[in-house]
Amino acid sequence: MIRTNKARALYIHLPFCLKKCNYCAFTSFPGATGEEVFSYLNLLAEELKQREHLLKKPKTIYVGGGTPTYLLPQALEKLGEILASFITEELLEFTFEANPGIINKEKIRVLKEMGVNRISLGAQSFNDAVLRKMGRAHTAIQLIEAYNLLREEGFNNINLDLITGYPGDSRKSFLASLMTAINLKPEHLSLYDLKVEENTRLYEEVLAGKVILPVEDEVAQSWEEAIILLEQNGYERYEIANFAKNQNYSRHNLTYWENQPYLGLGLSAHSKVGFLRFWNPDNLKDYQYMLKTGKFFDFEKLTLEEDAKEEIILKLRLKAGLNLKEFREKYHWDFLEQYGEKVQNFVNLGLMALEGERLFLTRKGSFVANTLLIEFI
Ligand code: SF4
Repeated sequence: MIRTNKARALYIHLPFCLKKCNYCAFTSFPGATGEEVFSYLNLLAEELKQREHLLKKPKTIYVGGGTPTYLLPQALEKLGEILASFITEELLEFTFEANPGIINKEKIRVLKEMGVNRISLGAQSFNDAVLRKMGRAHTAIQLIEAYNLLREEGFNNINLDLITGYPGDSRKSFLASLMTAINLKPEHLSLYDLKVEENTRLYEEVLAGKVILPVEDEVAQSWEEAIILLEQNGYERYEIANFAKNQNYSRHNLTYWENQPYLGLGLSAHSKVGFLRFWNPDNLKDYQYMLKTGKFFDFEKLTLEEDAKEEIILKLRLKAGLNLKEFREKYHWDFLEQYGEKVQNFVNLGLMALEGERLFLTRKGSFVANTLLIEFI
Protein backbone atom coordinates (compact mmCIF):
# COMPACT_ATOMS: atom_id res chain seq x y z
CA MET A 1 0.00 0.00 0.00
CA ILE A 2 1.36 3.43 -0.92
CA ARG A 3 1.03 6.00 1.84
CA THR A 4 2.28 9.52 1.36
CA ASN A 5 4.12 10.72 4.43
CA LYS A 6 3.79 14.39 3.69
CA ALA A 7 0.72 16.53 4.00
CA ARG A 8 -0.42 18.69 1.10
CA ALA A 9 -3.09 20.39 3.20
CA LEU A 10 -2.22 22.92 5.88
CA TYR A 11 -4.58 24.15 8.58
CA ILE A 12 -3.77 27.16 10.77
CA HIS A 13 -5.76 27.92 13.90
CA LEU A 14 -6.10 31.53 15.02
CA PRO A 15 -7.88 31.54 18.38
CA PHE A 16 -9.06 35.15 18.58
CA CYS A 17 -12.60 36.51 18.58
CA LEU A 18 -14.41 39.73 19.31
CA LYS A 19 -16.58 37.98 21.90
CA LYS A 20 -17.55 34.45 22.82
CA CYS A 21 -20.69 33.12 21.13
CA ASN A 22 -23.11 31.35 23.45
CA TYR A 23 -22.77 27.93 21.81
CA CYS A 24 -19.04 27.98 21.08
CA ALA A 25 -16.65 25.39 22.44
CA PHE A 26 -13.80 26.18 20.06
CA THR A 27 -10.50 27.35 21.45
CA SER A 28 -10.84 31.10 21.18
CA PHE A 29 -9.91 34.13 23.26
CA PRO A 30 -12.23 37.10 23.11
CA GLY A 31 -10.71 40.56 22.98
CA ALA A 32 -7.00 39.64 22.71
CA THR A 33 -4.55 42.55 22.45
CA GLY A 34 -2.34 43.21 19.44
CA GLU A 35 0.65 42.13 21.50
CA GLU A 36 -0.98 38.80 22.36
CA VAL A 37 -1.79 38.23 18.71
CA PHE A 38 1.80 38.91 17.63
CA SER A 39 3.29 36.65 20.27
CA TYR A 40 0.91 33.87 19.15
CA LEU A 41 2.03 34.39 15.55
CA ASN A 42 5.64 33.96 16.69
CA LEU A 43 4.68 30.63 18.25
CA LEU A 44 2.97 29.59 15.04
CA ALA A 45 6.09 30.45 13.06
CA GLU A 46 8.13 28.29 15.43
CA GLU A 47 5.72 25.38 15.09
CA LEU A 48 5.78 25.64 11.33
CA LYS A 49 9.57 25.47 11.43
CA GLN A 50 9.42 22.34 13.59
CA ARG A 51 6.79 20.57 11.48
CA GLU A 52 7.84 21.76 8.04
CA HIS A 53 9.37 18.38 7.17
CA LEU A 54 5.86 16.86 7.33
CA LEU A 55 4.59 19.23 4.68
CA LYS A 56 5.09 19.26 0.94
CA LYS A 57 4.14 22.32 -1.12
CA PRO A 58 0.53 22.62 0.08
CA LYS A 59 -2.32 22.34 -2.37
CA THR A 60 -4.67 23.85 0.18
CA ILE A 61 -4.30 26.18 3.14
CA TYR A 62 -7.17 26.85 5.51
CA VAL A 63 -6.97 29.53 8.17
CA GLY A 64 -9.71 28.98 10.73
CA GLY A 65 -10.54 29.93 14.26
CA GLY A 66 -11.61 31.71 16.21
CA THR A 67 -12.12 34.64 13.94
CA PRO A 68 -9.04 34.98 11.74
CA THR A 69 -10.22 38.38 10.51
CA TYR A 70 -9.95 39.61 14.10
CA LEU A 71 -6.30 40.23 13.21
CA LEU A 72 -5.42 43.79 12.28
CA PRO A 73 -3.83 44.37 8.86
CA GLN A 74 -0.29 44.41 10.30
CA ALA A 75 -0.88 41.05 11.97
CA LEU A 76 -2.38 39.64 8.78
CA GLU A 77 0.72 40.83 6.93
CA LYS A 78 2.90 39.06 9.46
CA LEU A 79 0.89 35.85 8.96
CA GLY A 80 1.39 36.31 5.21
CA GLU A 81 5.16 36.50 5.77
CA ILE A 82 5.10 33.32 7.86
CA LEU A 83 3.24 31.45 5.14
CA ALA A 84 4.95 33.07 2.15
CA SER A 85 7.21 30.16 1.23
CA PHE A 86 4.20 27.80 1.10
CA ILE A 87 2.26 29.92 -1.33
CA THR A 88 3.47 28.46 -4.58
CA GLU A 89 2.02 27.72 -7.99
CA GLU A 90 0.86 24.38 -6.54
CA LEU A 91 -1.47 26.05 -4.06
CA LEU A 92 -4.96 25.60 -5.47
CA GLU A 93 -7.10 26.86 -2.63
CA PHE A 94 -6.35 29.26 0.21
CA THR A 95 -9.35 29.72 2.47
CA PHE A 96 -9.67 32.30 5.19
CA GLU A 97 -12.52 32.29 7.69
CA ALA A 98 -14.07 35.70 8.15
CA ASN A 99 -16.75 37.15 10.35
CA PRO A 100 -19.07 40.01 9.48
CA GLY A 101 -18.61 43.25 11.36
CA ILE A 102 -14.86 42.75 11.57
CA ILE A 103 -13.81 42.65 7.96
CA ASN A 104 -12.96 45.78 6.02
CA LYS A 105 -11.34 46.87 2.76
CA GLU A 106 -7.88 47.12 4.21
CA LYS A 107 -7.94 43.61 5.65
CA ILE A 108 -9.37 42.26 2.40
CA ARG A 109 -6.52 43.92 0.49
CA VAL A 110 -3.96 42.14 2.70
CA LEU A 111 -5.76 38.82 2.28
CA LYS A 112 -5.67 39.20 -1.49
CA GLU A 113 -1.98 40.05 -1.38
CA MET A 114 -1.37 36.94 0.71
CA GLY A 115 -2.96 34.82 -2.01
CA VAL A 116 -6.26 34.02 -0.26
CA ASN A 117 -8.75 32.95 -2.93
CA ARG A 118 -11.64 31.59 -0.89
CA ILE A 119 -13.56 33.06 2.04
CA SER A 120 -15.68 31.17 4.50
CA LEU A 121 -18.04 33.65 6.11
CA GLY A 122 -19.57 32.77 9.47
CA ALA A 123 -23.18 33.72 8.80
CA GLN A 124 -25.01 31.24 11.09
CA SER A 125 -28.38 32.95 10.57
CA PHE A 126 -29.92 35.93 8.80
CA ASN A 127 -32.43 36.48 11.58
CA ASP A 128 -31.35 39.19 14.05
CA ALA A 129 -33.33 37.70 16.94
CA VAL A 130 -31.62 34.34 16.39
CA LEU A 131 -28.20 35.97 16.02
CA ARG A 132 -28.77 37.64 19.39
CA LYS A 133 -29.75 34.32 20.97
CA MET A 134 -26.53 32.85 19.58
CA GLY A 135 -24.57 35.74 21.04
CA ARG A 136 -23.09 36.56 17.65
CA ALA A 137 -21.22 39.83 17.33
CA HIS A 138 -23.00 40.90 14.13
CA THR A 139 -26.40 41.63 12.65
CA ALA A 140 -27.96 40.30 9.47
CA ILE A 141 -27.36 43.64 7.73
CA GLN A 142 -23.67 43.55 8.65
CA LEU A 143 -23.53 40.04 7.28
CA ILE A 144 -24.96 41.07 3.93
CA GLU A 145 -22.67 44.12 3.83
CA ALA A 146 -19.62 41.93 4.51
CA TYR A 147 -20.67 39.52 1.78
CA ASN A 148 -21.20 42.31 -0.74
CA LEU A 149 -17.87 43.90 0.16
CA LEU A 150 -16.05 40.62 -0.41
CA ARG A 151 -17.73 40.33 -3.81
CA GLU A 152 -16.89 43.94 -4.73
CA GLU A 153 -13.28 43.29 -3.80
CA GLY A 154 -13.18 40.37 -6.19
CA PHE A 155 -13.68 37.21 -4.14
CA ASN A 156 -15.43 34.75 -6.41
CA ASN A 157 -15.38 31.74 -4.13
CA ILE A 158 -17.34 32.27 -0.92
CA ASN A 159 -18.80 29.84 1.57
CA LEU A 160 -21.54 30.71 4.05
CA ASP A 161 -21.99 28.69 7.25
CA LEU A 162 -25.45 28.31 8.74
CA ILE A 163 -26.48 26.58 11.97
CA THR A 164 -29.48 24.26 12.01
CA GLY A 165 -31.62 23.53 15.05
CA TYR A 166 -30.72 26.53 17.19
CA PRO A 167 -33.22 27.05 20.03
CA GLY A 168 -35.65 29.78 19.02
CA ASP A 169 -34.88 29.37 15.31
CA SER A 170 -38.08 27.80 14.02
CA ARG A 171 -38.19 25.74 10.85
CA LYS A 172 -39.78 28.69 9.09
CA SER A 173 -37.17 31.19 10.23
CA PHE A 174 -34.29 28.80 9.48
CA LEU A 175 -35.59 28.24 5.95
CA ALA A 176 -36.02 31.99 5.51
CA SER A 177 -32.36 32.45 6.50
CA LEU A 178 -31.35 29.74 4.09
CA MET A 179 -33.32 31.41 1.30
CA THR A 180 -31.59 34.72 2.01
CA ALA A 181 -28.26 32.91 1.82
CA ILE A 182 -29.20 31.23 -1.46
CA ASN A 183 -30.28 34.55 -2.94
CA LEU A 184 -26.79 35.91 -2.29
CA LYS A 185 -25.53 33.14 -4.60
CA PRO A 186 -22.48 31.92 -2.67
CA GLU A 187 -20.48 29.17 -4.36
CA HIS A 188 -20.71 26.99 -1.27
CA LEU A 189 -22.97 26.52 1.75
CA SER A 190 -22.30 24.49 4.90
CA LEU A 191 -25.08 23.58 7.30
CA TYR A 192 -24.02 22.71 10.83
CA ASP A 193 -26.26 20.91 13.27
CA LEU A 194 -26.10 22.63 16.61
CA LYS A 195 -24.17 20.63 19.18
CA VAL A 196 -24.70 21.69 22.76
CA GLU A 197 -21.20 21.42 24.17
CA GLU A 198 -20.16 21.51 27.79
CA ASN A 199 -18.54 24.68 29.08
CA THR A 200 -20.67 26.91 26.92
CA ARG A 201 -23.25 29.42 27.98
CA LEU A 202 -25.87 27.57 25.96
CA TYR A 203 -25.11 24.34 27.83
CA GLU A 204 -25.66 26.09 31.16
CA GLU A 205 -28.89 27.63 29.93
CA VAL A 206 -30.21 24.30 28.68
CA LEU A 207 -29.27 22.63 31.98
CA ALA A 208 -31.03 25.37 33.93
CA GLY A 209 -34.13 24.95 31.76
CA LYS A 210 -33.86 28.53 30.51
CA VAL A 211 -33.50 27.36 26.92
CA ILE A 212 -35.52 24.56 25.37
CA LEU A 213 -33.97 22.66 22.49
CA PRO A 214 -36.12 22.14 19.39
CA VAL A 215 -37.63 18.70 18.90
CA GLU A 216 -35.66 16.40 16.62
CA ASP A 217 -38.52 15.94 14.16
CA GLU A 218 -38.69 19.64 13.50
CA VAL A 219 -34.95 19.82 12.86
CA ALA A 220 -35.13 16.77 10.59
CA GLN A 221 -37.94 18.38 8.64
CA SER A 222 -35.91 21.59 8.29
CA TRP A 223 -33.09 19.52 6.86
CA GLU A 224 -35.32 17.77 4.35
CA GLU A 225 -36.75 21.04 3.13
CA ALA A 226 -33.33 22.69 3.12
CA ILE A 227 -31.91 20.00 0.86
CA ILE A 228 -34.79 20.36 -1.59
CA LEU A 229 -34.40 24.14 -1.60
CA LEU A 230 -30.66 23.92 -2.16
CA GLU A 231 -30.96 21.40 -4.95
CA GLN A 232 -33.66 23.44 -6.66
CA ASN A 233 -31.22 26.31 -6.65
CA GLY A 234 -28.36 24.42 -8.23
CA TYR A 235 -26.43 23.31 -5.14
CA GLU A 236 -25.00 19.82 -5.15
CA ARG A 237 -24.94 18.00 -1.83
CA TYR A 238 -21.45 16.56 -2.25
CA GLU A 239 -21.05 15.83 1.46
CA ILE A 240 -23.76 15.24 4.03
CA ALA A 241 -23.70 18.83 5.29
CA ASN A 242 -21.95 20.63 2.43
CA PHE A 243 -23.37 22.03 -0.77
CA ALA A 244 -21.56 23.47 -3.77
CA LYS A 245 -22.51 25.17 -7.00
CA ASN A 246 -20.62 24.27 -10.16
CA GLN A 247 -18.33 21.88 -8.30
CA ASN A 248 -16.88 24.61 -6.11
CA TYR A 249 -16.16 22.02 -3.45
CA SER A 250 -14.06 22.81 -0.42
CA ARG A 251 -10.85 21.14 -1.56
CA HIS A 252 -9.31 21.50 1.86
CA ASN A 253 -12.18 19.78 3.64
CA LEU A 254 -12.19 17.09 0.98
CA THR A 255 -8.69 16.25 2.21
CA TYR A 256 -10.23 15.26 5.55
CA TRP A 257 -13.18 13.39 4.05
CA GLU A 258 -10.95 11.55 1.60
CA ASN A 259 -8.66 10.50 4.42
CA GLN A 260 -5.63 12.27 3.00
CA PRO A 261 -2.78 13.62 5.17
CA TYR A 262 -3.07 17.08 6.66
CA LEU A 263 -1.02 19.21 8.99
CA GLY A 264 -2.68 21.46 11.56
CA LEU A 265 -0.83 24.20 13.40
CA GLY A 266 -1.83 26.30 16.37
CA LEU A 267 -3.83 25.72 19.51
CA SER A 268 -5.95 22.55 19.50
CA ALA A 269 -5.09 21.81 15.86
CA HIS A 270 -5.09 18.17 14.78
CA SER A 271 -2.88 16.52 12.18
CA LYS A 272 -2.79 13.20 10.43
CA VAL A 273 0.24 12.23 8.43
CA GLY A 274 0.53 8.63 7.33
CA PHE A 275 -0.66 6.50 10.22
CA LEU A 276 0.30 9.09 12.79
CA ARG A 277 -2.32 11.34 14.31
CA PHE A 278 -1.15 14.11 16.63
CA TRP A 279 -2.78 17.10 18.18
CA ASN A 280 -1.92 20.28 20.00
CA PRO A 281 -3.03 21.46 23.43
CA ASP A 282 -5.84 23.97 23.75
CA ASN A 283 -3.99 26.32 26.10
CA LEU A 284 -1.02 28.57 25.58
CA LYS A 285 1.04 27.28 28.48
CA ASP A 286 1.11 23.71 27.18
CA TYR A 287 1.51 24.92 23.61
CA GLN A 288 4.61 26.93 24.55
CA TYR A 289 5.97 23.95 26.45
CA MET A 290 5.36 21.66 23.49
CA LEU A 291 7.32 24.00 21.24
CA LYS A 292 10.12 24.23 23.76
CA THR A 293 10.51 20.47 23.87
CA GLY A 294 10.09 20.14 20.10
CA LYS A 295 7.92 17.05 20.64
CA PHE A 296 4.30 16.26 19.91
CA PHE A 297 1.89 17.20 22.69
CA ASP A 298 0.01 13.96 22.17
CA PHE A 299 -0.26 11.41 19.39
CA GLU A 300 -1.49 7.98 18.42
CA LYS A 301 -0.40 5.52 15.79
CA LEU A 302 -3.24 4.02 13.85
CA THR A 303 -3.23 0.43 12.76
CA LEU A 304 -4.07 -0.40 9.17
CA GLU A 305 -7.50 -1.58 10.31
CA GLU A 306 -8.20 1.59 12.29
CA ASP A 307 -7.22 3.70 9.32
CA ALA A 308 -9.41 1.62 7.02
CA LYS A 309 -12.40 2.10 9.31
CA GLU A 310 -11.86 5.84 9.35
CA GLU A 311 -11.76 5.78 5.58
CA ILE A 312 -15.11 3.96 5.49
CA ILE A 313 -16.80 6.42 7.83
CA LEU A 314 -15.37 9.50 6.14
CA LYS A 315 -15.97 8.46 2.56
CA LEU A 316 -19.52 7.33 3.17
CA ARG A 317 -20.29 10.93 4.12
CA LEU A 318 -19.48 11.91 0.55
CA LYS A 319 -21.82 11.75 -2.38
CA ALA A 320 -19.02 9.95 -4.22
CA GLY A 321 -19.17 7.32 -1.49
CA LEU A 322 -16.71 4.52 -0.92
CA ASN A 323 -15.10 2.93 -3.95
CA LEU A 324 -14.85 -0.73 -2.98
CA LYS A 325 -12.16 -1.54 -5.55
CA GLU A 326 -9.91 1.29 -4.38
CA PHE A 327 -10.57 0.29 -0.79
CA ARG A 328 -9.60 -3.31 -1.56
CA GLU A 329 -6.39 -2.22 -3.24
CA LYS A 330 -5.47 0.21 -0.50
CA TYR A 331 -6.18 -2.00 2.50
CA HIS A 332 -6.16 -5.53 1.04
CA TRP A 333 -9.54 -5.91 2.60
CA ASP A 334 -12.74 -6.99 0.89
CA PHE A 335 -15.36 -4.72 2.39
CA LEU A 336 -18.33 -6.80 1.25
CA GLU A 337 -16.82 -9.99 2.58
CA GLN A 338 -17.01 -8.53 6.07
CA TYR A 339 -20.01 -6.24 5.82
CA GLY A 340 -21.98 -7.72 2.90
CA GLU A 341 -24.93 -8.76 5.05
CA LYS A 342 -25.23 -5.37 6.74
CA VAL A 343 -24.92 -3.58 3.43
CA GLN A 344 -27.64 -5.77 1.92
CA ASN A 345 -29.94 -4.94 4.84
CA PHE A 346 -29.33 -1.23 4.43
CA VAL A 347 -29.85 -1.48 0.68
CA ASN A 348 -33.16 -3.29 1.29
CA LEU A 349 -34.20 -0.54 3.68
CA GLY A 350 -33.34 2.08 1.08
CA LEU A 351 -30.58 3.56 3.26
CA MET A 352 -27.61 2.60 1.08
CA ALA A 353 -27.03 1.92 -2.60
CA LEU A 354 -24.39 0.03 -4.50
CA GLU A 355 -23.67 1.01 -8.09
CA GLY A 356 -20.84 -1.05 -9.52
CA GLU A 357 -17.99 -0.51 -7.05
CA ARG A 358 -19.52 2.65 -5.58
CA LEU A 359 -21.19 2.28 -2.20
CA PHE A 360 -23.00 5.33 -0.90
CA LEU A 361 -25.75 6.54 1.41
CA THR A 362 -29.10 7.36 -0.11
CA ARG A 363 -30.83 10.56 0.93
CA LYS A 364 -32.89 8.55 3.40
CA GLY A 365 -29.69 6.99 4.72
CA SER A 366 -28.03 10.37 5.09
CA PHE A 367 -30.65 11.39 7.66
CA VAL A 368 -29.61 8.53 9.92
CA ALA A 369 -25.94 8.60 8.94
CA ASN A 370 -24.54 8.73 12.46
CA THR A 371 -26.45 5.68 13.61
CA LEU A 372 -25.83 3.83 10.38
CA LEU A 373 -22.10 4.46 10.11
CA ILE A 374 -21.49 3.13 13.62
CA GLU A 375 -22.33 -0.28 12.17
CA PHE A 376 -19.02 -0.19 10.28
CA ILE A 377 -16.79 0.67 13.19
S1 SF4 B 1 -16.89 33.66 16.31
FE1 SF4 B 1 -16.70 31.44 16.00
S2 SF4 B 1 -14.91 30.82 17.18
FE2 SF4 B 1 -15.47 32.89 17.87
S3 SF4 B 1 -16.73 32.56 19.65
FE3 SF4 B 1 -18.11 32.71 17.90
S4 SF4 B 1 -18.40 30.60 17.16
FE4 SF4 B 1 -16.62 30.63 18.54
